[in-house]
Amino acid sequence: MATTEPRADDVRWDLSDLCADAAEARAGWAALVERSADFAARYRGKIASLDAPGMRAVLDESDELAQELSRLQVYTFLRLSMDATDVEANDLTTIGRDRGADIENDLLFLGLEWIALDDAPAEALLASEELAPYAHKLRVEREEKPYVLSEPEEQALNARGPVVSSWQSLHDRQVSTLEVPFDSGDGVRPHTVSELLSCLHRSDRDVRLGAVDALFAGLAPRADVLASCYDALVGDRLTVDRLRGFGNPMQPTNMDNELDDETVEAMLTATEESYGIGRKWFEAKARLLGLDRLALADQYAPLGEARAFSWPEAVEVVDTSFGRFAPRLAEIFRACLDAGHVDALPHSGKAPSAYCTAVSKQILPYVLMNYTDRLRDVSTLAHEFGHATHNVLALEQQTWRSHRCGIPMAEVPSTFAQSLTDDYLLENETDLGTRASLAADRVESAFASIYRQTVLARFEQRAYGVRGEGLSLGVERLSELWIEENTRYYGDSLALPEGYAIGWSYIPHFIHVRFYTYAYAFAQLVALLLYRRYREDPEAFVPKYLAMLSAGGSASPADLVAPFGLDLRSTDTWREAFAELDAMRVEAETLSAA
Ligand SMILES: [Zn+2]
Repeated sequence: MATTEPRADDVRWDLSDLCADAAEARAGWAALVERSADFAARYRGKIASLDAPGMRAVLDESDELAQELSRLQVYTFLRLSMDATDVEANDLTTIGRDRGADIENDLLFLGLEWIALDDAPAEALLASEELAPYAHKLRVEREEKPYVLSEPEEQALNARGPVVSSWQSLHDRQVSTLEVPFDSGDGVRPHTVSELLSCLHRSDRDVRLGAVDALFAGLAPRADVLASCYDALVGDRLTVDRLRGFGNPMQPTNMDNELDDETVEAMLTATEESYGIGRKWFEAKARLLGLDRLALADQYAPLGEARAFSWPEAVEVVDTSFGRFAPRLAEIFRACLDAGHVDALPHSGKAPSAYCTAVSKQILPYVLMNYTDRLRDVSTLAHEFGHATHNVLALEQQTWRSHRCGIPMAEVPSTFAQSLTDDYLLENETDLGTRASLAADRVESAFASIYRQTVLARFEQRAYGVRGEGLSLGVERLSELWIEENTRYYGDSLALPEGYAIGWSYIPHFIHVRFYTYAYAFAQLVALLLYRRYREDPEAFVPKYLAMLSAGGSASPADLVAPFGLDLRSTDTWREAFAELDAMRVEAETLSAA
């Protein structure tokens, strides 16, 4: 929905904080290549001989190089986001890819030599005051040591790269080139997978039901190839896991997320125990829509019609709801707006969706929006500024290397920020349709993050289990596992159409990053728990919460949430989150019936 007329309330990015122009960016890349080569020449082969102050100097310098790399990469990426056909931006992308690879190769030795260091000297360095700002990330890097093989073995494993990505791109192509003839309201025309999926949010039931049938009828002839891709990738990952000595197929993902197996299992178990909350909602939603029983196609059907929110109104809502929680958050929000670090409305050639990107300790983050006056866009603005405020506070206190969190913790402040805005709107909004829509949207998106992602993770666990026993992952076997795990969740509350058996087939995360999805369940549940703590005692909560944001990635998720009395390994902790979720369900039911 690109607007052609400029709107008075539009705000666009000002990229001058990043780079003056493309010429400066090119010069920046050339200079950074030299600086990195010089850095490598001075320190390669010497990490083992450094004392604590020496190691600190190396880390500080590598932190500076990483931020300069980030500045140049973000400049290129944002130019491309504004206009994918921008010739200069495309040239810069090519330069960035080539130079970026050179620079990363030059900086690689630091991590490898650090991991290679014996435990005793490494521990001595980690205990020093000089390395305190880096200690946590350095420890995390060393945890991989037992699973790293000899250099020739690692090279042989790396040589598989092109074959692995061939399976992935075969899968991607099979899904992205699929076009199914369908009439979504403007006559029969070819629809892509994502176009069909977006029909599930339409109010016309025939369109929703038809889109589901069309999607699975379209995928069915490709299911065999899609299953073969998955079978090949799972088989390959299990073989590499065995060579490296991993204990279970989830372990590498859990280690990346800095979560132990026990924590993840406690969370998934508590989630499965509470599937009933979802089923109660589906039963209520059927009544609200005047149906005997909900069909899969009705799961995201709109309840209530929300009014429009102009951009200035959205800014006001986020500013006020952040400000009454903690003035500092509203200050950061306004600072980013004033600095021209927000691009608000859709434009022709602009990248879709929304994101926030950190740049460096000196430069405020940039936020991309495609604001279209919908209630959901207000929530997206709050979400992206949950990320932005987290970035700014963490970069104030931490090194570049230590500011960044893995996805599980990174998505907590963004989800929490949405709750701040949702609650503010529920308190102040008088339009009944808007209130109903807000309450239903928030409970349904929580279900999508928590329940659906758990179903996906359990399906993956079982697929790896079956493949590990030497059985192949064909269409029939995958479909059986898929329906079993889905039925565990939906029960009788929602009718699954026959075609849904191949619902596993088009999901990219299974192919690209195994067990990727549970991180979103984690973030949503932790945000619910924190919000509960906030309501119980706002005064005690806010300073602790700001301290957690400032800590960035300088501690593990378990340590970051410990000050709130949350023990992530305990199933009881997670159960408490579901009391909160159930309250949201009841509220959505009440407001939708009003
Ligand atoms: Zn996010």
